Amino acid sequence: MKIRCKNCYRVLNHDEEYCTRCGERSLEVVKLMNGEIIDDAIDYKFKTNLWIYLGVAFLLNGVLSIILSVFFKKANPDLLITEVGTALPESIAFFSFSNAALCTGVIILGVLLITFYKDIFLQIKKDFVVLFQKKMLPHLLFLIIVAGALTFIIKFTDVLVIPPYFKSFLDGSLSSVYDETNFGVLKICITLAIYSFVIEYIFKHMLYGYLQEVTLMKEGTILTLMVVLSMLAEFLTFGFTSTLTLNTFLYWLLGDFVLNYLLAIWYTAGNKNLLLNVLVRIILLVLIVLFI
Ligand SMILES: [Zn+2]
Repeated sequence: MKIRCKNCYRVLNHDEEYCTRCGERSLEVVKLMNGEIIDDAIDYKFKTNLWIYLGVAFLLNGVLSIILSVFFKKANPDLLITEVGTALPESIAFFSFSNAALCTGVIILGVLLITFYKDIFLQIKKDFVVLFQKKMLPHLLFLIIVAGALTFIIKFTDVLVIPPYFKSFLDGSLSSVYDETNFGVLKICITLAIYSFVIEYIFKHMLYGYLQEVTLMKEGTILTLMVVLSMLAEFLTFGFTSTLTLNTFLYWLLGDFVLNYLLAIWYTAGNKNLLLNVLVRIILLVLIVLFI
């Protein structure tokens, strides 16, 4: 647990009753030295977030995917499942996984907004004001360059930053049993936008605050954890598809690492601005969807 001086905001050692910089007495350090527990609101909030994510975006998502696959198979009884080593044809995979992800995205966003509406609303309001300050200009320039470069790389290589079954649908390589051309693209954009917010909120913003307050980790360690856990979260939601090959997975891992690493660095070193991170992620992913 990190304790800061109330006067000068320096991080205090756990036996530093009087701040060695400004002399302010810290009642929290006194409490800690007496073995009392200090306010653990952020601890509670982060863990609640984590459980919501695992419950909805992982468990419910998995269950829904299976149920939808069964439905799809029932509705299309003449569908042949002949390919060796593939449990489901790609079209079933796309139908079930994309609809499940859309449903859980809407649910998890709803649950987060209901549970933490005050925190989220205040944060977004605060971030929104900063967005129009002059100091954000270099950030925006950086964003344009990165967005351009990433879109270019993804267009001309096999590197992926969106789930592979979205990519197969978008580039038309999905053997189509049913047609949902326009709705499919819209569905992908909405799902990616919702999960952009969810991932940036829980696994960048909340995680950063949590690790800063509750542990004494160095910035580098925190950054690494932000990247690894963001990727893990995305994989738990979008990774369990029967059609995923090792090759595709590695390209996805690479693309997702670059995306999350840039966003984590950008968050910690630069703006500490959740809204900006979410916007960047949404703009980037939508660009990629539209230009594939
Ligand atoms: Zn101080």
